[in-house]
Amino acid sequence: MDTTITGKHINHRQLVLLPLPLQGHLSPMLQLANILHSKGFSITILHTSFNSPNPNNYPHFTFLPIPNTCEANIPDKDKQNIVSLFLYINSKFLEPIRECLERLMLEDKGVACLITDAQWFGTQSVADGLKLPRIVHRTSSVSSFLLFAVSPALLDTGCFRPGSYEESRSEALVQGLEPLKVKDLSNFLTSDPEGGCKVLELMAQATKRAQALIWNTFKELEEHDLKALSQDFPGPHFLIGPFHKYFSASSSNLLTPDQASLSWLDKHPPNSVLYVSFGSLVKIKESQFLEIAWGLANSKQPFLWVVRPGSIEGSEWLEPLPYGFLERIVEGRGYIVKWAPQQDVLAHNATGGFWTHNGWNSTLESICEGVPMLCSPSFGDQFPNARYVSDVWKIGVMLDNGFEREEIESAIKRVLVDEEGLELRNKITNIKWKVDRCLKKGGSSYSSLEDLVNYILSF
Ligand code: UDP
Repeated sequence: MDTTITGKHINHRQLVLLPLPLQGHLSPMLQLANILHSKGFSITILHTSFNSPNPNNYPHFTFLPIPNTCEANIPDKDKQNIVSLFLYINSKFLEPIRECLERLMLEDKGVACLITDAQWFGTQSVADGLKLPRIVHRTSSVSSFLLFAVSPALLDTGCFRPGSYEESRSEALVQGLEPLKVKDLSNFLTSDPEGGCKVLELMAQATKRAQALIWNTFKELEEHDLKALSQDFPGPHFLIGPFHKYFSASSSNLLTPDQASLSWLDKHPPNSVLYVSFGSLVKIKESQFLEIAWGLANSKQPFLWVVRPGSIEGSEWLEPLPYGFLERIVEGRGYIVKWAPQQDVLAHNATGGFWTHNGWNSTLESICEGVPMLCSPSFGDQFPNARYVSDVWKIGVMLDNGFEREEIESAIKRVLVDEEGLELRNKITNIKWKVDRCLKKGGSSYSSLEDLVNYILSF
């Protein structure tokens, strides 16, 4: 794809990018870095020492670990809980980040701007103090961001009850953000509503003070919410995604993908296989794992299933699987791997459906390959993403009862076998075409990227 706009001679001005150390945030930030590098900027990645990217995959970037911070210093309670982790790094890491930026700004090439993940909300004050423009990179959809931004107001209405996700599964619509429901506000909010809302409020406030926002999404997909976005967050907004269509995420993988998945798919007819993966963070109980296994077996459809080691509570990998599951029970129709080359799997013509947790990267990757989804959101933005997939774009079916084998079996058949699956595929193929167009010269993302480059050059 031709993404050259202004030519390499234009600048080499230095951009400092600060990713969040989680797979679903790291990959898009590194893709963004590649996109901006292709426009002639010099890239420095400022990163934590834990979940750090592999510099060998990016010899064209400078990597700078945030000094005097290491995983060993982070208390275990803060590592295990995402809300505590965000609060921790946004307080303890700020001074080392400030020192680093100050040093970089004194170098000959200077720093044109700082680009950080939205969840690095504490860095807005650091950037303000240094008079350095900060641009926020939001790794998820506009709709989930708007929902997060109203969560403190919803908390005041008493919607969330600490510790009980079930009790707060309110079907009530969120006013102004329909068809999102109160229950689409994640269960990380219900297990710690005050903490969760505090993090989201800090993120929204710091984002409002930022110079601009870069989104890994595209205009045609988000049309429904763009007016509300620019009312609440005047921007400017640069919707330049989907990033992985410019540069694959494979080099930012924290685990090694099992390439044999692709030769296994080669043996299957078009649109016949269900790909199952719940991303890099979701953990499930052993009872849920067994429901998934029996749902897959009873559907009688072929499946490629990613079971991440450690993702089943209390197990290392597949120990809870019923004896003889792959050979005897599913009679060779299934293939289980620890980590798959997901983008290639979704692009394979044998893949007919994607049972996903609806992390934003997975959702976008599925849309870009025209693969209809089964939705099992688990936390965070996965709920609003899944709601949009099933109720707005109508390109997938929601599993409403958690993991329950009869519902799983029926949903798999709806997507892979029934007429409904064809309708879902038609709709998602339509959106896939829009993606292809938006990235071409004159398309919305192409033009927005041009605008972004010119905007940064204006600093
Ligand atoms: N992924 C992958 N192989 C797998 C599972 C996931 O390459 O077996 C990649 C996937 O392509 C996506 C990322 O991991 O780019 C997961 O990001 P997402 O936002 O979907 O979910 P998260 O991991 O943040 O929950």
